[in-house]
Amino acid sequence: MRILLAEDERKVAEHVRAGLTAEGYAVDVAGDGDEALWLAESNTYDALLLDIGMPHKDGITVVRLLRRKNILAPVIFLTARDDIEDKVRGLDAGADDYLTKPFSIVELLARLRAVLRRQRPSAATVIKVGDLELDLVSHEARRNGAQIELTPREFSLLEFLISNSPKPVSKTAIVEHVWDQHFDSETNVVNVYIKMLRRKIDPPGSEPLIHTVRGVGFALREGQP
Ligand code: CA
Repeated sequence: MRILLAEDERKVAEHVRAGLTAEGYAVDVAGDGDEALWLAESNTYDALLLDIGMPHKDGITVVRLLRRKNILAPVIFLTARDDIEDKVRGLDAGADDYLTKPFSIVELLARLRAVLRRQRPSAATVIKVGDLELDLVSHEARRNGAQIELTPREFSLLEFLISNSPKPVSKTAIVEHVWDQHFDSETNVVNVYIKMLRRKIDPPGSEPLIHTVRGVGFALREGQP
């Protein structure tokens, strides 16, 4: 899942970015409202974390402008002000949730999972395809009951595939949702990651779940590709 974080306080931004990255999220960071707007218009994000008090444009203005352009990714505001009026203005502008600083990364991650969950057709926190199970809270993957060890990036890739299952996803969509803006999409990294994931998810002797769909990309599903 790819997240845009807009926060002008460098220390806070770095702390949040590190916490999200450790959980396998791909994170782009904007330092002001204009940059946030530009990034949100030029990339596809699964969720936006926006500081309210930022130079150039505040977070509330950014959300208003994005919603007007039909960019509907869920938004969580981060703000130093525990002000009811600000909260109401933010929610009315189209935000989904609110966190008052200082907040713990653990709480931020839980709120983020909650807004991302609301985007899915099913609100379940455990997604199953065949005998493969993915727990989105504990980040555990099991096949036929046996635990599979995944790196945060592998988990993120599997989460993206399973969230779209049985539909195939293109390599471009994978790059957009699993990697951040510093990723060089010319590289063969997606293929390499799919190969590593296959080795873990589809060991020899099991029914393959990760399929290559010619001319499209990859799909995670039971049965024929
Ligand atoms: Ca600020």
